[in-house]
Amino acid sequence: MISVAKSIYAAENFPYQSFSDVASNAWYYNFVEFLSANEIVNGYKGTDTFMPNNKINRQETAKMIAAGAGLIYEGLHSTFDDVADDHWADGYIAALQNAGAVSGFKGTNNFKPRDYIKRSHVSKMVVLAFNLEEGNLEVNLTDIEGVDCETYIRILASNGIVGGYKGTTEFKPNNEITRAEVSKIISLAMEPSISNPEGGGGDEPDPDDAVQWYCFNINSLKFHRLTCPSVDRMLEKNKKFMFTTSSRAVALGYDPCKVCKP
Ligand SMILES: [Zn+2]
Repeated sequence: MISVAKSIYAAENFPYQSFSDVASNAWYYNFVEFLSANEIVNGYKGTDTFMPNNKINRQETAKMIAAGAGLIYEGLHSTFDDVADDHWADGYIAALQNAGAVSGFKGTNNFKPRDYIKRSHVSKMVVLAFNLEEGNLEVNLTDIEGVDCETYIRILASNGIVGGYKGTTEFKPNNEITRAEVSKIISLAMEPSISNPEGGGGDEPDPDDAVQWYCFNINSLKFHRLTCPSVDRMLEKNKKFMFTTSSRAVALGYDPCKVCKP
């Protein structure tokens, strides 16, 4: 019976897509789905699209990193001249400022929230916001020696969070980063058990709490393994599939099903 239920869901609901432009065979699918499940990202300007190949600016990146790292941001205000107290990202930027992850742009007191962000600067923000230390992997990037933020890029690479750009040994530190690329870096810093072509991650993954697809009942606030008979009985309108870990589902306020013990 359980295998019948599973096959029905495999056919009808999988591969599940949260965004119309993040296909299940895209290299960034797991990373974006994980961030979506954990409420770090949502649809672009109220649509069901994610715009994975768009460049991302500094304010949007600050939000994703501060939220992904679990920094406290509510009620905080940054001290930058160009980030007003009522700016939507002020709290996130302030949280990063408190963590030492951002400072004024080239000796000024400006954050430049609407500028696109470089791959090197994302590396610095992520390492400092997540408090990452050097990992065990050998770093063979050929274009980072002596560049701005080299130390931070090395820390990410030694943890398998970044690698060469499109199969090369170059990191392209001065390139502006896309929404898909930043999603990969943040999700791997959060959760090393996500399938990662580079291998590795920030910490040793917990095999009993690895990231996988679960079915959530958004009415009863319970969550299930996909093989649970309850998934078959759940009303379609109450159903939401999310790619996450059990402990993160609990942190979002969902109770694990007592039958399937997700
Ligand atoms: Zn269940």
